[in-house]
Amino acid sequence: MTDDFPFGDLRARVCAADRAFSWHPYTPMRAYLDEHRPLVIGAARGARLYDLDGRSYLDGNGSWWVAVLGHGHPRLVAALQQQAARLCHVSFAGITHEPGALLAEELVAVAPPGLARVFYSDDGSTAVEVALKLALQFWHNQGATRRHRFVALDDAFHGDTLGACSLGGIEVFRRPFAGALCDCVHVPTPPQPGAEDEAYGRAFEALATLVRRDRDELCAVVVEPLLQGAAGMRSYAPRYLRELRALCDRHEVLLVADEVFTGYGRTGAMWACEAAGVSPDLLCTAKGFTGGVLPMAATLASSAVFDAFLGAPERAFFHGHSFTGNPLGAAVAREVLAVFREEAVLERARPKAARLAEAFARMASLPGVRSHRACGMTAALDLAGVGGYLGRAGWRVYAEALARGAYLRPLGDTVYVAPPLVIDDADLEELLGIVEESVRAAVAAG
Ligand SMILES: *Cc1c(COP(=O)(O)O)cnc(C)c1O
Repeated sequence: MTDDFPFGDLRARVCAADRAFSWHPYTPMRAYLDEHRPLVIGAARGARLYDLDGRSYLDGNGSWWVAVLGHGHPRLVAALQQQAARLCHVSFAGITHEPGALLAEELVAVAPPGLARVFYSDDGSTAVEVALKLALQFWHNQGATRRHRFVALDDAFHGDTLGACSLGGIEVFRRPFAGALCDCVHVPTPPQPGAEDEAYGRAFEALATLVRRDRDELCAVVVEPLLQGAAGMRSYAPRYLRELRALCDRHEVLLVADEVFTGYGRTGAMWACEAAGVSPDLLCTAKGFTGGVLPMAATLASSAVFDAFLGAPERAFFHGHSFTGNPLGAAVAREVLAVFREEAVLERARPKAARLAEAFARMASLPGVRSHRACGMTAALDLAGVGGYLGRAGWRVYAEALARGAYLRPLGDTVYVAPPLVIDDADLEELLGIVEESVRAAVAAG
């Protein structure tokens, strides 16, 4: 290491500061500091990241699932620059501005029918947090004060703030906080599409039984529609969403769709809910919402939910963040919607999704691969290993892929890709080639 000369070159300078002061998310810091050879990214363009030496890495997970339009999209950069020159920030509390108001109109126009109001926040976790608090207060405002229990799926992931974390089904993420979480009951995740009716029926019946039993205490059922990202890119049949919607209607329980990952075309349509023709009462969006350019998010609500907050002042939603409705984020989010409309993003992703599915199906026969799956612009391989988030098999592939020029952060023993929807064909082929070679190399070495 050149730590003795930290000002000698930028990489060494960054590494020294990082080593001494940074605390990274989802990172066991002992191992990180012991190894301490971090990738230091200096620039990004399209589907590629560049380190400070100019080496390129294909961004296999779209920078933690946010960069749906790739990096440095010229229209998003221009929208950000133009807005920055006029107004960077002002409160959205009881006043308004052009990007915030027009974005809300444009979002409602593309949202599943019935969603009529937009409440802004900062990221996926806060969008979910807003949905949970809206659902709780929706019942509170109607005098149904016992309704504070949520239902979520096993292996769910809804973010890391305490409310969102309460819904999480991944045990290792929630264990330290177990005593401090909201009331949430988990039900079995529906099986993969194409599973036998019996397995599907068992999963749905577990949910239906719980909803029937607890209906007077239930506030909302919260799901990642169609595709559970953090669970390892696991999808389930749209039928489940349709029947869930009918169940919630029958028992008067709210349905929250967490489209933080699935929205903006990740599963093929603009929203995963569209596959089932279902509208939730509340919908959370973040990640692709600003194309990954800025942290901003939104929670969309039906008129029925919104109307329950009208009337006496104490019925209002006393919730907001310093940066709620941030004009920079809103201007970029408007441009993201314009790019989706004008550049046929969804249509052009379709053949790429088919190519992903085909390539991963072929890789299923590689030694050490237990199972494979694909849904929209995601595909995953489960490697033989201990299983779960703390599995190490995926990390061996990660190291092999870095050496070959791709960033492929795994979920334990699951290796997956969730690239920008706009990744070009040459980059996609190169990424698929690196996945295959890296799996072969990691399994051969391991
Ligand atoms: C990533 C994610 C979140 C949390 O979003 P952050 O922006 O990381 O707070 C919530 N729900 C789902 C489904 C996600 O994938």
